[in-house]
Amino acid sequence: MSKYKQDTLIVTTGRNPEENFGIINPPVYHASTVLYPTLHTVKTRGQPVTYGRRGTPTTFALQEAIAELEGGFRSVITSSGLSAVTTALLAHLKAGDHLLMVDSVYEPSRHFCDTVLTRYGVDVEYYDPRIGAGISSLLRENTAVVFTESPGSVTFEVQDLPAIAEAAHKRGAVVMIDNTWASPLYFKPFEHGADVSIQAVTKYLCGHSDVMMGAITTTEEAWKPTLDGHGAIGQCVAPDDVYLVLRGIRTLSVRLERHMATGLRLAEWLATRPEVTRVIHPALPSHPDHAIWKRDFTGASGLFSIELAPCPEKAVAAFLDDLELFGMGYSWGGFESLIIPQYPAKIRSATKWDAKGQILRIHAGLEDVDDLIADLDAGFARLRAAANT
Ligand SMILES: *Cc1c(COP(=O)(O)O)cnc(C)c1O
Repeated sequence: MSKYKQDTLIVTTGRNPEENFGIINPPVYHASTVLYPTLHTVKTRGQPVTYGRRGTPTTFALQEAIAELEGGFRSVITSSGLSAVTTALLAHLKAGDHLLMVDSVYEPSRHFCDTVLTRYGVDVEYYDPRIGAGISSLLRENTAVVFTESPGSVTFEVQDLPAIAEAAHKRGAVVMIDNTWASPLYFKPFEHGADVSIQAVTKYLCGHSDVMMGAITTTEEAWKPTLDGHGAIGQCVAPDDVYLVLRGIRTLSVRLERHMATGLRLAEWLATRPEVTRVIHPALPSHPDHAIWKRDFTGASGLFSIELAPCPEKAVAAFLDDLELFGMGYSWGGFESLIIPQYPAKIRSATKWDAKGQILRIHAGLEDVDDLIADLDAGFARLRAAANT
């Protein structure tokens, strides 16, 4: 544990100017071959850097930073957020195992389970994100992993991780969390019972919409299988991308404060609009899991959803197509505001999603919030005009 508070850690972690001519930021090493001085060093792999794919001082710096911020033992980085999910699952599952997967999980993670894992003989069972301690009735002798994502990144159910972890650990299952929404700053997965925490680094850690990357952080107990699986699969990341993420991390705390404040202002404003039937934001007291969020999280990021009052699709198009500041695109966590339609009812099996209106997921960027509200306000005027013609 570091003696420093989180905001200091963000500035100091993962760099060592004394080893680097006094230069503040770690250097970018481009490497495949690494030379060994003696036969003995070759045979014992007796040096910290052994081969480009296994990491360089650049990758080690980022891994150290992410492990410290998540509060875990160690981290490995991967080529995307999705590959962090798939690598963690492959590293901890084998044929014949049972996986409990949350029904609100990120859709590409679900796709991996339903195709690759199923083909490899893993029994995948989806469960209600709000199950809490009730997970114990689903745990089996061969349940190897309980996977959580909290809050779900489209529908924002907040999971009772301590209750789930307690039940899972009694049966010897590994508890994983996709912790991307909160980032390592606003939820500390290992203080709430996780064994493995996943970040889509692509999102807030990078923060600038220009890098694809993932990270897997674990407890000391879960480290060896994770590192072995990661190495076996051949995961590695380009050094210039690692550098960009190390740079992005330094401003994570100030960026997130603003994403949170703007997200909340937008959410509160949207809740007053007649065109919106529901605002789904865990930090609003109206959210069904608000109490769990308040108990376990120290902040909210800028991502939430709304449900529009039922209206014709041409009205939704009139709203979305001419927004000036909100771009329509996947991913999130960058400096810019985004909005994207989502269809959660189609990607559920253990629970039912019963919204009547169109779901729109919003990412609150770093623009001036009044400009953002004006953009949405003009959009709602277009929506009403289109609905009435
Ligand atoms: C985006 C996202 C991922 C995948 O990250 P990529 O870098 O896009 O592969 C995984 N989980 C969640 C919750 C995400 O939002």
